Amino acid sequence: MKFGTKAVHAGVKPDPSTGAIMTPVYQTSTYVQRSPGDHKGFEYSRTQNPTRFALQDSIAALENAKHGLVYASGLAAIDAILKLLKPGDEVISGNDLYGGTYRIFTKIFVDFGIKFHFISMDDVSNIENYVNDNTKLIWLETPTNPMMNIVDIKGAAAIANKHKVMLGVDNTFATPFLQTPLDLGADIVMHSVTKYLGGHSDVVMGALVVNSEELNDRLAFIQKASGAIAGPQDCFLVLRGIKTLHLRMERHCQNGRMVAQYLRNHPKIGKVYWPGFEDHPNHDIAKDQMSDFGGMVSFTLTEDDKEESFRIMERFKLFALAESLGGVESLSNHPASMTHAGVPKEEREKIGLLDSLIRLSVGVEDVDNLLTDLEQAIG
Ligand SMILES: *Cc1c(COP(=O)(O)O)cnc(C)c1O
Repeated sequence: MKFGTKAVHAGVKPDPSTGAIMTPVYQTSTYVQRSPGDHKGFEYSRTQNPTRFALQDSIAALENAKHGLVYASGLAAIDAILKLLKPGDEVISGNDLYGGTYRIFTKIFVDFGIKFHFISMDDVSNIENYVNDNTKLIWLETPTNPMMNIVDIKGAAAIANKHKVMLGVDNTFATPFLQTPLDLGADIVMHSVTKYLGGHSDVVMGALVVNSEELNDRLAFIQKASGAIAGPQDCFLVLRGIKTLHLRMERHCQNGRMVAQYLRNHPKIGKVYWPGFEDHPNHDIAKDQMSDFGGMVSFTLTEDDKEESFRIMERFKLFALAESLGGVESLSNHPASMTHAGVPKEEREKIGLLDSLIRLSVGVEDVDNLLTDLEQAIG
């Protein structure tokens, strides 16, 4: 089945009791048993819930995965992955990643005896320099947040495979519409469903997908034992959101391209970060592993003037100043003081995350209005 058909149909079957075409919101904590242990496969909603199962199947289908699990947030999904590890284990992570991921690694799991190496993955052969017998997980985002770097998933998978280490990919920015990391050799794909999969800025949720039976069993056990599940109402909203994922993504990509090109030709703009530019350092890898370049665009000002970038963001009328991304409405964000405030300034500057950097999540509005908004705000 092709992507758009899967987006509309996967995971959703007419409800067996009424024929309802939409999977109902099974807002129930428990299920009645005929006799102790004699039930219909549903005992308690932390472990089994039909609305959640429908969504898990839908996301798995989109990622060409055998198994899917959904969580109370993207970070709860990352938390579940880290619980696969033991004290003494080591993780090699990209150094340009979502601020909350950096926070859970360094502020929580370091205290549980896990060691993290944050390294540049622009050239994945760098990973080899950090692999040792304790390495258990390689973790990467691509495109990265907010610098829009591209990491070669196939290359990273080859290294992970050679050393028998798990490869986890945060696929939030690309979505399965643009890239499916399991097909490129990753072991676990993670999503902040809050973003493009939900798509309407009304749900916080996370997801993991895997192919391995063994990994799925371990993660399902952690989900049941730790309990960070997504509730049925939220699962319903995301099932609805996913039905238009392909339509939304096409428009996000078109609008993202127009906005990136507009900014690049603007005299007050310094650098524009968007993987679709031919001179983007890993443009060829982006072209190879993604079907288009997405709706996220970051830029700096010619002079690294934080106050001026604040004034621009205050003047926006359509690009609402807010954390998050991937919804139908355009958003703007100042990573250095918002999403990435928890990353030390020296670390930020190492990756080019300057104080004037503005990150845009380009929505699905009419692009002419978006360009007019940029024009009046930047001046
Ligand atoms: C938002 C985000 C997360 C965290 O997800 P939550 O749903 O906010 O917990 C992780 N990775 C990326 C790339 C994100 O954008």
